Amino acid sequence: MEFRDLKRQYQALQTEIDAGIQEVLRNTDFISGKKVSELEEKLAADTGVRHVISCANGTDALSLALMAWGIGPKDAVFVPDFTFFASGEAVALQGATPIFTDVREDTYNLDPDKLKIAVENVFREKKWTPRAILAVDLFGQPAEYDAIRRIADEYGLLLLEDGAQGFGGQIHGKKACSFGDIATTSFFPAKPLGCYGDGGAVFTNNDAWAELIRSYRIHGKGRYKYDNVRVGMNSRLDTLQAAVLLAKYNAFCSYELEQVNRIADRYAQLLSECVKIPVILEGYRSSWAQYTIQLRNEQERNSLQQYLKSHGVPGMVYYPKPMHSQKAFEAYEMDETDLTVTKQLCKKVLSLPMHPYLEDSEIVQIAELIREWAGR
Ligand SMILES: *Cc1c(COP(=O)(O)O)cnc(C)c1O
Repeated sequence: MEFRDLKRQYQALQTEIDAGIQEVLRNTDFISGKKVSELEEKLAADTGVRHVISCANGTDALSLALMAWGIGPKDAVFVPDFTFFASGEAVALQGATPIFTDVREDTYNLDPDKLKIAVENVFREKKWTPRAILAVDLFGQPAEYDAIRRIADEYGLLLLEDGAQGFGGQIHGKKACSFGDIATTSFFPAKPLGCYGDGGAVFTNNDAWAELIRSYRIHGKGRYKYDNVRVGMNSRLDTLQAAVLLAKYNAFCSYELEQVNRIADRYAQLLSECVKIPVILEGYRSSWAQYTIQLRNEQERNSLQQYLKSHGVPGMVYYPKPMHSQKAFEAYEMDETDLTVTKQLCKKVLSLPMHPYLEDSEIVQIAELIREWAGR
């Protein structure tokens, strides 16, 4: 069994994907081709965000947003302690300080109460200038944007939505990647909407930031490519990747999202009595980048992961280490007292196979193995 079965997806969508790739090969418009702008327009229409700027990957997308805001040394950005490394890395790469903030145990997303405390602490200490909150839509569920937006407004902070795992999620019908002042996503193959290599995008309604991001994305270009008005980067989405994404996008909207939600319901039905299952808040919809359960402690988690593995079922630990204890961040002074939930989660979480092509017999098999393991 595969953790995320991209082969089955390719089998289902082969005709459309092959045709899209062939068209790019015939047109040879490999860089900034027609399909790139077509994809950007589609994503803009779908999320209701005015500007969608594709780029080389989800990490660059975060960097481009921070560059557009001029975030750098002496600035602080609040980042969840429980996330993929890139969320904190992009902040540090700009020379700013990531302030790692704890998450909620049930949703895995930023805890607004702890965020508020962290923001007040940084303002009180006056060591850095708090500039932005980087909220992550972890495992497919949007962060709590009502509460986070109130905190951002109260303290004059910008809000960056890291929707790398969140694309396809919703809060009361409003789509993920539309909540931040700037939002970003990733098209890494295993993300909810993935291409066949690296890819990413930036979303914003702000015309001035969009113009800056378009410039930073291509060597800080001015009026044309050889007029360079700022130091930027080379971060474009390949036309071949745009073709793959366009071919997958119809399936993503028309049935894949519904399918992963049905699978999550099925898991919940079969597992809720023997392990802690993920919580989706009222009115929220997840795109289920991961289906992450919790065990009581590290020993149980490792034992279940091993048991599943010995029966051919892959389970992954996202994430085994809090951001604050990554070696790369050891130079930053950290107040660990309030990061207890993340520390615990890193020991207790286990993500199960989850993708739109998972069959019911496989879900039943996984659930039976877990119940067998629990009843031993
Ligand atoms: C995957 C991911 C990224 C980075 O995306 P890449 O396309 O791999 O660079 C950033 N943040 C989160 C939360 C992610 O899961």
